[in-house]
Amino acid sequence: MINVPPHPFRVSEIDENDPFVVNALKKHRHFDPCWCGSGKKYKKCHMNREQEKPFTLGKLQKLQRDVFWRKRGCMYPKSSQSACDGKIIDSHTIQRKGPLSKIVDDSGHVMHFEPSGDSAGLEAQSIGWRKASTFPGYCRRHDSELFGPIENIAFDGGHEQCVLHAFRNLCNEIYRKQALIDSLKFQKSILDRGQDLDRQIAIQYSCNENIKGQRKSLEESESLRAYIEKAIVGSNYGALDSACFFFEGDISVVSSSVFQCEFDFEGSKLVDMWDLSIDAELLSHSIANTEKGGAIVFVWHKGGIHAKAVVESFERIPDDEKGDVFVQYCFLNCENTYFSAIWWKSLHSKQKAQITSYARALYYEGGAFTANKQSLVGWKFT
Ligand SMILES: [Zn+2]
Ligand SMILES: [Zn+2]
Repeated sequence: MINVPPHPFRVSEIDENDPFVVNALKKHRHFDPCWCGSGKKYKKCHMNREQEKPFTLGKLQKLQRDVFWRKRGCMYPKSSQSACDGKIIDSHTIQRKGPLSKIVDDSGHVMHFEPSGDSAGLEAQSIGWRKASTFPGYCRRHDSELFGPIENIAFDGGHEQCVLHAFRNLCNEIYRKQALIDSLKFQKSILDRGQDLDRQIAIQYSCNENIKGQRKSLEESESLRAYIEKAIVGSNYGALDSACFFFEGDISVVSSSVFQCEFDFEGSKLVDMWDLSIDAELLSHSIANTEKGGAIVFVWHKGGIHAKAVVESFERIPDDEKGDVFVQYCFLNCENTYFSAIWWKSLHSKQKAQITSYARALYYEGGAFTANKQSLVGWKFT
């Protein structure tokens, strides 16, 4: 069973004069809409919340997983004529015949940071490669139609291949954001069971603020998806920019995701992600494999100033430090990062501790990435 990925959750400061709090503290009649914003009647929602029995942690986690990993339909470009065929399958966000195959061990396992039963945080653990980096995003037909050019043809840095990488990343990101919003809504409905009214208000308020933030970033992702869809359907790939950094060496870490360009690689802050009045630019990254090694692939909306700044800051990193810095960036920012057992075993305990602390950090607060003296990966950029 795939666990629910960790996500940034910000506990919001409560202001007593906030209309939400003022309204929550009013007397409510049975059939009033509930103060929490669930859309349910007060009687069916928070009226007896303090007396409700909290769920056990096990039950909570199970329900949470069910909500998160629900199938949400095929994400093939809607504007295309071609119809879905077959049920929604688990699609790999990292090419299964490509980079993923480079990190699988003889027993069919790869490594990933997973919640651990006995420790408080995430731990590097071995998981079956089929479960690695998948999401239920497309029907069988559209998965192979869309991603044939990146699954079956060797990567050469061609712009079209790069854009397809980005599109798959983006669909995964959108799926996860939607899943996260559903799961926050679910948490709203159960997390404050048995708590007093003050705690209920605090929990509901924080959940609402987080949902607002996630909705905003979902909107940004949706608008980039519409843009890429148009490019794919109309074969107009010039609407996007891409940059590839080729390297030689073993692909021991693979990662793919789409990020809001909040900081560049030198730690400069580009935009305040929590200011909902500003649209953040998005940048997709993935790792593709080549004959001699691999490539780090960035894709962004043509004309994106912040996205370009992030890529340029990566370009400025000396070639012998790029691999090390990129790997740190992936572990710190991106849950969708997998690695080989051989590589993990080869690291010193200090390096393992550093990477574990990155993987456990839910929110990157900025600061420049600096390369380790002893590089984490031996990637030679040319
Ligand atoms: Zn309620
Ligand atoms: Zn489909």
